[in-house]
Amino acid sequence: MRSYKIAVIGGDGIGPEIVKEARKCLDAAAEMENFRLEYNEFLMGGAAIDAFGVPLPEMTLNGAKEADAVLFGAIGGSKWDALPRQLRPESGLLALRKGLDVFANFRPVKVYDPLVEASALRPEAVRGVDLLVVRELVGGIYFGEPKGRDGNRAFNTMVYSEWEVERIALAAFKAAQKRRKKLCSVDKANVLEVSQLWRETVRRVGEGFPDVELTNMYVDNAAMQLVTNPRGFDVIVTGNLFGDILSDEASVIGGSIGLLPSSSRGEKGGIFEPIHGSAPDMAGQGTANPLATILSAAMLAESLGETAAAKRIEDAVIGALERGYRTPDIARYGAIKPCTTEEMGEAVRRLICDGNDEH
Ligand code: NAD
Repeated sequence: MRSYKIAVIGGDGIGPEIVKEARKCLDAAAEMENFRLEYNEFLMGGAAIDAFGVPLPEMTLNGAKEADAVLFGAIGGSKWDALPRQLRPESGLLALRKGLDVFANFRPVKVYDPLVEASALRPEAVRGVDLLVVRELVGGIYFGEPKGRDGNRAFNTMVYSEWEVERIALAAFKAAQKRRKKLCSVDKANVLEVSQLWRETVRRVGEGFPDVELTNMYVDNAAMQLVTNPRGFDVIVTGNLFGDILSDEASVIGGSIGLLPSSSRGEKGGIFEPIHGSAPDMAGQGTANPLATILSAAMLAESLGETAAAKRIEDAVIGALERGYRTPDIARYGAIKPCTTEEMGEAVRRLICDGNDEH
């Protein structure tokens, strides 16, 4: 039987609750498609600081490196906000991404028909949106040196080398080839030197993909186009900072940040996580939407080559939405069955198993 090692990191806040539901769905899909998953649980973020005094214990990094994939919830919370930056929960996640060298972050944004009315944007603007943001994840201003404080000045450095742009561009062109073959590279080349190098490099990589239509857009314009004409995009490729902001903006298209999954990929393995944070305001209340994490589990299955399992999970999510299951964040429209985090996970699990949401 095919078997895979999965490192599970629940994290803080709602992290453990949503990961529990995703794992349940992943197990159900594995059973239906005849493969095995072996889980190992690890601590990261605030939970790791409380237990070991560091946000990314070596055991967690090694466990993630040895696994075929990492299923992750979210980290962070005000309890740890006063710590120095390098000891805060977020530093653990940045170090994990860097340690696994997962340089390509894929963030699909799909508007599912049952939720067209839940979007903050007009239904006619968002119906049928299906776009993918490809964000460079281990470089740019979040990691650039020098950074620091100098008296009453503070500074960070936005830096990219050609090889870093080449590999993210390559990942984005390949993704576009499997979709509608349109790639939009987003930068600030009218102002930033680093963006000029970005633009030249993406264009050069594009010469190897004559079947993909490449366009360039400044980030300020892209921020506007994303909400005025989201259907105009197929794949967007951009740097770490711009990608972080644009993909959160894109989350309003779908109706809730609790719906958006992501995968972060390098040469091998990957981290699969919702794009949202640990939502400390919702922790322990059963109100968090687990669908972003469940859809991240579908991306995890896809990365293992288990395409049928991935499809089962996504179809079951759509099935649950069609049947009116709604956590509070998406309850405004079509909430025939208002539900908790666990009830949503359970509905999806049952649909994965036998296409039926009832007991
Ligand atoms: P957040 O994403 O946690 O929450 C933003 C808003 O979205 C909140 O109103 C929250 O209630 C809501 N929300 C988030 N996830 C939801 C879900 N699954 N279902 C329904 N609603 C949901 O962002 P924040 O409040 O800025 O940050 C909270 C903590 O999370 C901070 O400590 C931050 O550093 C951390 N954070 C972690 C990650 C990560 O682990 N990848 C990402 C972003 C923020």
